[in-house]
Amino acid sequence: MAKAHILVVEDEPDILDLLQYNLEEEGFQVTTAVTGEDAVYKAMTLHPNLILLDLMLPGIDGFDVCRTLKGDHKTAGIPIIMITAKGEESDIISGLELGADDYITKPFRPKILIARVRSVLRRQSAAVNKDNAPKAIANLFIDPARVDVKVDNQSVSLTATEFHILNFLANHPGWVFTRSQIIDSIKGSDYPVTDRSVDVQIVGLRKKLGSAGHMIETVRGIGYRFREE
Ligand code: CA
Repeated sequence: MAKAHILVVEDEPDILDLLQYNLEEEGFQVTTAVTGEDAVYKAMTLHPNLILLDLMLPGIDGFDVCRTLKGDHKTAGIPIIMITAKGEESDIISGLELGADDYITKPFRPKILIARVRSVLRRQSAAVNKDNAPKAIANLFIDPARVDVKVDNQSVSLTATEFHILNFLANHPGWVFTRSQIIDSIKGSDYPVTDRSVDVQIVGLRKKLGSAGHMIETVRGIGYRFREE
């Protein structure tokens, strides 16, 4: 398999060196950029497999880079992992809503970083359209075509909205979604959903799922994700 090519965007030299060193140790090909402009240019010309993007950059910042790349069909498919300062939940939410795929907070442990990179690359290669395929995840079974959910082989009766939320999250294990991304995903469903009511839906959903309820994880301050196996 060819080496995955990673574009690392970070203006702090020490962190950039650390990222580059650890990624190269793991066999990745690394290109670096220290400004947002340079990041956009290199992403457009080199088409890396993944971008590690610091949000706080001089000139155009990481949000602008993310917006530009996710808004251009040539680069929209390149996964982006944001690098953020600890405790900046609002930045993480903004980034996810601009289309970033995941995030890691500084300071990070290299092992965690590498695991995150591999996981996003894996998701990318598995991201074929399987939204309607039946899924079995541990003791949970979801059949979207039949709108059927079973836990330990017992049918679970969900509302349309609960089903949409479960199926949406389960289609992207490991991905964190903000409440408004979850709402967007179920537009067209006939149930009115507000930010707050997403929380209520999740509470109800977990309860009905019983022993499988823990698969829907709360990401504090950000939103929800389906547990990655
Ligand atoms: Ca920075």
